[in-house]
Amino acid sequence: MGNQKILDDVFENFVNNTQIFKDREVLRHDYLPDKLPHREEQIRLLGTIVAPVLKVARCSNIFIYGNTGTGKTAVAKYVLSHLETKAKMYGVPVKFSYVNCRMTGSEYRVFASLCQSVGISVPFTGLSVDEVFDRFRAGLDAAKTIFIVVLDEIDALIKNRGDQLLYELTRINETLNKSKVSIIGISNDLRLKEFLDPRVFSSLSEEELVFRPYDASELRNILLERSKLSFYDGVLSEAALNVCSALAAAEHGDARRALDLLRVAGEVAERQGAKMILDEHVREAERHIEHNRVVEALRNLTLHSKLVLLSVYSLNKSSVTTGEIYDIYNELCGELGVGLLTQRRLSTLINELDAMGILNAKVVSMGRYGRTKKIRLEISRTLIKDVFESDNRMGRLIDYKPKSSQKYTQ
Ligand code: ADP
Ligand code: MG
Repeated sequence: MGNQKILDDVFENFVNNTQIFKDREVLRHDYLPDKLPHREEQIRLLGTIVAPVLKVARCSNIFIYGNTGTGKTAVAKYVLSHLETKAKMYGVPVKFSYVNCRMTGSEYRVFASLCQSVGISVPFTGLSVDEVFDRFRAGLDAAKTIFIVVLDEIDALIKNRGDQLLYELTRINETLNKSKVSIIGISNDLRLKEFLDPRVFSSLSEEELVFRPYDASELRNILLERSKLSFYDGVLSEAALNVCSALAAAEHGDARRALDLLRVAGEVAERQGAKMILDEHVREAERHIEHNRVVEALRNLTLHSKLVLLSVYSLNKSSVTTGEIYDIYNELCGELGVGLLTQRRLSTLINELDAMGILNAKVVSMGRYGRTKKIRLEISRTLIKDVFESDNRMGRLIDYKPKSSQKYTQ
């Protein structure tokens, strides 16, 4: 086929196949639907907890937790946006601030963002965290308002930086005269409690709300509702809908995952010029998403994890031992001129790669010779090569021939 003809086909297909997506945006993660089926209970509870605000009283702090994709962010935004409307209607002085702590990144920037929502601007850097906090407190008190702050994905901040920020915030009411603060903390990690000072945890969790994973039939309803907005009538097959729900239910009942599958399946169908989304498109979508997940994970590995993986790759055998990896890792560090980690630390990295599904590490018994760990790649060599080739430092080591491998060949 001539180049011209290829492109003609691609473009024709694209133009003539507008019949899959009615509105793609509806499947984005941050789209907030009007209806949140299967979360009536959480909406009602959260509504009950924040309602006192309408009588100009501070509401309890709330700690919300549940796995990713269980609707925590959606429910919190939904309830607060309705509260905001009602508060305006009754003329209640209330201000809201929503901060995603994982994306905001540091305590400084979280406080800076809180400052902004009470109309105080702070420089992007340069002040101490304490200084920013003081400005926030002063600005807030001057605003004479009830202030509801949502700290979403708070687990990310706390695990990286500790709970100083929460400590200050949970105590702030003691020093305010004209304003009051309520905190809604949201965590994807159920064990967050273990990372918090007990006093901080108890003031944050005056109320607690748990979001359980969705089961397959709940996910099916959620997808069905959303698909009515995103796809033209009759485009989504029953089988595709069922497979999407079942796959996402198996993966911790994650609605985000289910919506991703649905969106990518739609794109696969569109690209193939299909008139309907079939179950095979969903399976293709799953492979696609999994591939992207692994590529992303590989790119984001730390230098030493990359070197460990590259060591296994360079050994190029069906399985290797920790000792063998350590020798090659040693050589690779030499090539790059970076310092070595201890063998024990390296073992930890191997376990992490195993947990991520990149390596497979199995302890096997060698009879009277004791036990040893056999390690092999869990992903394809081609994938590693593709990703590492475009990596600054790994790129020039990808074809590295181990010097010490000689002594291992049987
Ligand atoms: P979490 O914050 O718990 O990780 P989100 O609230 O971000 O989960 O939800 C993930 C995605 O699934 C979002 O796109 C959201 O709109 C959608 N979603 C979650 N629960 C529901 C529901 N009950 N009904 C409709 N859509 C939902
Ligand atoms: Mg969320």
